Amino acid sequence: MDLIPAPFPHLLRRLFRELTREEKVFDLPARKFWRGDPALDTSVRFHGQPAGNPVGPAAGPQDQMAQNIVLSWLAGSRILELKTVQVNDRLTIPRPCIDVTTVGYNVEWSQELRLRDSLREYVAGSMLIDILRAENVLGPGRPGRDDTILDMSVGYDLAGIRTEAVRGWILDMKDARAHVAALRATIPDELKRLRGLDFTTRLSDQITLSTFHGCPAGEIEGIVRFLLTEMDVHVTVKLNPTLLGRARVDHLLHDVLGYHEVETREEDFAKDLQWEQALEITDRLSELARARGRTFQVKFSNTLVVRNHRSFFPQSEGVMYLSGEPLHVITLNLVELYRKARPEVPISFSAGVDGRNFADCVALGFTPVTTCTDLLRPGGYARLPFYLENLEEKMRGLGVRGLGDYVVKAGGRGGEAVRRAVEEGPLRDALLAALAAQTTDLRATLLAHGAAEHVHARLVQEAALLNTPVLVAKATADPRFRREQNSKAPRKIGSRLWLFDCINCDKCVPVCPNDANFVYETGVHAADYRDYALQDGRVVEVAGGRFEVKKAHQIANFQDFCNECGNCDTFCPEDGGPFVEKPRFFGSLDAWRALPRDGFFCLRQADVDAAWGRIRGVEYHLEVDRARDRALFTDGSIRLELRHSERRALSASAKGGTAEGHRLDFAAYLNMALAVDGVLDPRRSNPVNAAYP
Ligand code: SF4
Ligand code: SF4
Repeated sequence: MDLIPAPFPHLLRRLFRELTREEKVFDLPARKFWRGDPALDTSVRFHGQPAGNPVGPAAGPQDQMAQNIVLSWLAGSRILELKTVQVNDRLTIPRPCIDVTTVGYNVEWSQELRLRDSLREYVAGSMLIDILRAENVLGPGRPGRDDTILDMSVGYDLAGIRTEAVRGWILDMKDARAHVAALRATIPDELKRLRGLDFTTRLSDQITLSTFHGCPAGEIEGIVRFLLTEMDVHVTVKLNPTLLGRARVDHLLHDVLGYHEVETREEDFAKDLQWEQALEITDRLSELARARGRTFQVKFSNTLVVRNHRSFFPQSEGVMYLSGEPLHVITLNLVELYRKARPEVPISFSAGVDGRNFADCVALGFTPVTTCTDLLRPGGYARLPFYLENLEEKMRGLGVRGLGDYVVKAGGRGGEAVRRAVEEGPLRDALLAALAAQTTDLRATLLAHGAAEHVHARLVQEAALLNTPVLVAKATADPRFRREQNSKAPRKIGSRLWLFDCINCDKCVPVCPNDANFVYETGVHAADYRDYALQDGRVVEVAGGRFEVKKAHQIANFQDFCNECGNCDTFCPEDGGPFVEKPRFFGSLDAWRALPRDGFFCLRQADVDAAWGRIRGVEYHLEVDRARDRALFTDGSIRLELRHSERRALSASAKGGTAEGHRLDFAAYLNMALAVDGVLDPRRSNPVNAAYP
């Protein structure tokens, strides 16, 4: 299912409308925006660049569209690993592709947009963040709070990454002036004050490399060399949990955590990068990066490839990729092993990160700490502020103001870290005294003793290493990562969705990684109706039925943003899937024509709304003259003229050649009228009415 990005003016219009009229942006309420405690400094550096905090999305389904990059940022992300791009940009992904109802499984892959569309989405996302910053949407905060890093992610093999298409894409991300200028020119008149903004044009100069499961060591090294040298970017290489070895992975999965049904395969461990190879390439690539004035680090970890033992994904998929709670424990154990061998190599982390374990991941010195599976659960990006608020709470509890000092104190090994990092003497004594005090500012203590800045960095690094066995043991023993606490799928209540009305839990809106589901309002409507049929050459009323919509609050789906991943279906308490049963709106007539599914395209013009609809495979056209309160509705054969506000037909006629007995379903008009009127109503912003000023 092709994703179709929204035009930049539509995104802008919707963003400002939602913010001013509904105090939300792309369905994230303003009360969920992360504003940060101004008394605390959560800033970090990643590849030498400053970021307001260490959290962000891992390259995944929830950061491939511009609106999601914005959502991510508003919720607190400051290091955004963008969804992986690759030369093969016409993938066919099996659907459904995401199942995070218990732990996390997926069969999805890289960016589902064409390379040029991905670039446009990332440029648009970056410009929207610049606009939010310039408009001071988050309000006052400490300096640096809003510093943001976009981290490119590319895959999957050297031949693909060396192609003109991918090289050109990387160069465009490094210098996006032409693309920024093109979008700047489309800023609508009502927001023309934004046209003069000094938009970021160097979007990124760093890449996280994603390789195939089973990618040979030489290939990984070759790609990183190419990126460090010819592309001149900083590089993070994402490694696989298979590095831990099958015996240890199986032991953790089965004996420790109880996921006995999850089955690994020997061939996946045999094919993947081996331990000694990982250490060797780390050494060579760190050295190369140093020589090039670039930085190199590793990321733990990719998902774990396991046998597809369930019925959720298509049976054509022999394997699926495990994430979430069990991966958290496996990956932490891998980190512990790796740090014993290469303690100096910086690590970025992604594996089952959530609001409850994020602060511990920070205490392990990981930068960034990225998250994916958790954001696909109810609440979506609204879950993210809790990560940071929980961290801030812990920082206040420890009496620290900066993240470095938090790392030193958080694991209870700060004294040992000081003794390792600083020689015996007055400085060490002062640091130990500062640590023991109610409030701690180690940097100030170091400064007062004339110590260099790098001593603080060393101290933090020592503490992170000392925290590792402590926090890894804590997570490994924590029952919340075990199967018994992660085996309950969300409850279904036994009712079935249809076009209108449901229990209105609204879960389907934030769980959508592309923000494709939205809320709109209809009037309630209950009436008996009559159908129309051609009989003896005349259109006459015939028996119809009863039409009833009981609630004003409704759900719709924007097809252009929906790739049928299935995530909203798994969390909807009712059966059928919101993206299947709820009214599906297309962003253009071309898109509506191209996909022969039930759904609507509507167009608002001066006084007239026009809508094209497909209901149970039958095509309809509706035209509403709002000023005259008149509508024309037809299935191409029978045509009704109606008083639209009363949903009442005034006259009926048939086109020449209409077959005797042909019947027009009046409920189709009622369905279409209610959905189209509701979605076009400007009082609730949505991706459909964003097209209209
Ligand atoms: S469609 Fe399902 S998930 Fe969405 S609001 Fe209705 S019941 Fe809730
Ligand atoms: S609407 Fe549902 S199926 Fe479509 S992309 Fe969103 S979560 Fe996936």
